[in-house]
Amino acid sequence: YADLAMYRAKAEGRNTLRFYSPEMDSISWNNISLEADLRKAIAQEQFELYYQPQIDLATGAIAGAEALLRWSRPEFGLTSPNVFIDIAEETGLINEIGTWVLTKACTQAATWQSLGHAPFRISVNLSPLQFLRQDIVQVVENTLEQTGLNPGSLELELTEGSLLKDVERTKQVLRSLKELGVRVAIDDFGVGFSSLSYLKNFPVDTLKIDRSFISSLLAGSRDEAIVRAIISLAQSLELKVVAEGVETNQQLACLLSLSCDEAQGYLFSRPVPSGIFESLLRDYPRYLLRNQSVPAKKV
Ligand code: C2E
Ligand code: MG
Ligand code: MG
Ligand code: MG
Repeated sequence: YADLAMYRAKAEGRNTLRFYSPEMDSISWNNISLEADLRKAIAQEQFELYYQPQIDLATGAIAGAEALLRWSRPEFGLTSPNVFIDIAEETGLINEIGTWVLTKACTQAATWQSLGHAPFRISVNLSPLQFLRQDIVQVVENTLEQTGLNPGSLELELTEGSLLKDVERTKQVLRSLKELGVRVAIDDFGVGFSSLSYLKNFPVDTLKIDRSFISSLLAGSRDEAIVRAIISLAQSLELKVVAEGVETNQQLACLLSLSCDEAQGYLFSRPVPSGIFESLLRDYPRYLLRNQSVPAKKV
């Protein structure tokens, strides 16, 4: 099992050797085939981006979209990044995949803008490894140049994992991205250990309230108190605030009463392929969110 041990050591990115134990068997082999398939996926163009609208709660209009990676893995069907993003990180494949995502998303957003859907914002998730690569600012700048997308239309979503790996470097990269005119969002805001300290140190534009605070959001609940506090914090710091994972009209009503800027979730639409998103852009009614006289459409 020497090869297996070497493989795991390599996958973990450390110079450690692991000894074989029977419990490791299934998980290791799963990961090996996952890695092999992942390598093929790039060459065989098995990736696709889905898009989920972000709704401006003041007008009901689509303000932008989050690009979400999908892999149609042969024999497994459509696979969420939750399943493969860790392997992609450990093996470094995330760099190639991430660059593909960035280019694809910017190209798509530029196309939608040229069809008259301006101003239209595209949000792209960056993994920690991708964010910390030496040339990340260059990669972003090149992508904008190549695709013709206006920098202010691109928002990069980062999690605490990315921001805290190397605080000095993070500050520097965020400053350079700001100079470029690109927006930065903190994804899954509120679940990390040091959410408030990065607001003090890092120039960001948007907070995305983690879904875990939204899922049981009810008037008078503890979650409501937390969400109210996050929104008020964002307002004081002049940051935009987006609620993630909005699934019910009750949650929406609550967010409206708290003056949340934008919302994203199954209530409005699941993530959809670009063709369907385009028809959403054309036909999506501007719901009268303030008085909710029209129920939100499920897609
Ligand atoms: P995330 O960035 O926090 O994305 C939100 C996730 O919540 C997405 O899962 C989305 O499909 C799901 N979601 C949206 N609305 C609802 C809702 O109302 N209810 C529920 N239960 N879920 C909802 P998805 O697409 O499976 O992505 C999972 C995670 O994978 C993302 O979390 C992000 O961290 C990562 N990811 C996705 N695409 C990329 C990518 O292109 N690059 C990188 N590095 N990571 C990505
Ligand atoms: Mg995200
Ligand atoms: Mg999130
Ligand atoms: Mg997440």
